[in-house]
Amino acid sequence: MINGLKRTGDLEWEVPIGFIEGMRVPGRFFLSENLTATLEEGAVTQLANVATMPGIIRHSLAMPDIHWGYGFPIGGVAAFDYDTGVISPGGVGFDINCGVRLLTTPLTINDITKKKEILDQLYDAVPVGVGARSSLRLSPKQLDEMMIHGSTWAVEEGFGTKEDVAHCEEGGSMKGADPSHVSQKARSRGVPQSGTLGAGNHFLEIQVASEICDPEAAKVFGVEAGQICIMVHCGSRGLGHQVCTDHLQILERAVDKYHISLPDRQLACAPLTSPEGRAYFGGMAASANYAWANRQVITHQIRNVLAKCCGIGYDDIKLVYDVAHNVAKIEEHVVDGKLTKVCVHRKGATRAFGPGCPDVPHDYSKIGQPVIIPGSMGSSSYLLKGTDEAMMRTFGSTCHGAGRILSRSQAKKTIKGSQVRESLGREGIMVKAPHDGAIAEEAPGAYKSSSEVVSVVDRLGISRLVVRFEPLGVIKG
Ligand code: 5GP
Ligand code: MN
Ligand code: MN
Repeated sequence: MINGLKRTGDLEWEVPIGFIEGMRVPGRFFLSENLTATLEEGAVTQLANVATMPGIIRHSLAMPDIHWGYGFPIGGVAAFDYDTGVISPGGVGFDINCGVRLLTTPLTINDITKKKEILDQLYDAVPVGVGARSSLRLSPKQLDEMMIHGSTWAVEEGFGTKEDVAHCEEGGSMKGADPSHVSQKARSRGVPQSGTLGAGNHFLEIQVASEICDPEAAKVFGVEAGQICIMVHCGSRGLGHQVCTDHLQILERAVDKYHISLPDRQLACAPLTSPEGRAYFGGMAASANYAWANRQVITHQIRNVLAKCCGIGYDDIKLVYDVAHNVAKIEEHVVDGKLTKVCVHRKGATRAFGPGCPDVPHDYSKIGQPVIIPGSMGSSSYLLKGTDEAMMRTFGSTCHGAGRILSRSQAKKTIKGSQVRESLGREGIMVKAPHDGAIAEEAPGAYKSSSEVVSVVDRLGISRLVVRFEPLGVIKG
């Protein structure tokens, strides 16, 4: 293990104050023995860097999918006091409201006899790849509506059902969205990309529910063993990326204006209550809503394809839930025994609110919110549930995926896409991607073991396993 770190529990490590200069709180991360070899020193330094930021509460946190990111580590969670703290685009990530949704179908594995045909049709219906173009022709006013109302806008436009909206984090429409803080450049990237999956790590996957770990919770979430499900992973496309880029520039200047001392420029931030901080929040929330609408439009496309190919009804495909894993939220958490207004940054981390929390959909209230954790195109993905333990220890947060062990360029150098395609094919997993390079970057070997990562959060109790899924067919952007 890296020098200077303190083991504080079976699955828990501390980055003590003093690890780097200026830390206001300790860092804390969660890893199993098996995962310690995956820990990058750079990511630990980033965790310590975040601990120097004004208003940070309790700990700078990282989940077991921790790896190096822009400014903040991916897998990072940091809560800042609303009155004295800051907001930072680096704590959200470039792909604002990158997130995952899980759909159930009434199909079982035996109904998927024409897998290639289904994948081909999905590939045609959902625009994928770097230059994917939308079939929507949004007017500037419609784009505004999309950014203000998110999933609700999409459903009102005919892209889904009312129940879908209720099954999104934030009801798929975050408050405080302000399109006036979304630049013309961001808008012009957003219009042609609305309703598209994007490239790289983003995917649309046909999965089978292979193991029910918590029958009661699975029943409430509407998932049964052997059921065919669809997982979608995408975000706010070029629009969110541009919002991040634009506001980073503004916030880099704000750092001097507000005399904030930072160990890394990539942590650019501003007080939450400052005009610059509010402007970023407004633009970020608008991008988050764009992403929710985006995933909703994709859901509509998926439903149409499955209805046509598999003879099932549009409404037979249910949305279990939709989670954001790159976002900053104003929430209330108990800090030193007092309910406190904070801004929780989750950057490659998933909200994991426990039973009874007001933000958990009514029908899931007894169980806790669904938490969706993708693995890789060749390994298990998971559905978990949020817990009280998460509320107490991690500001209601858990991991967001397996997390990378190889960067894209490392993966491309060491792994051959065509070989991955073949070996996945032998396991019965069909991959459709624009080119083999995309497969190499995203090969299962580029990621940590998803089962190991989720077992850490399950054993810690910051979310609990409900269902395991195996991939059958994957569309990669
Ligand atoms: P990120 O948002 O950080 O790029 O990725 C989230 C997680 O998705 C990754 O950590 C990885 O575990 C998972 N993932 C990446 N590609 C795939 C895929 O093709 N299928 C599934 N099921 N998971 C994936
Ligand atoms: Mn993303
Ligand atoms: Mn993501």
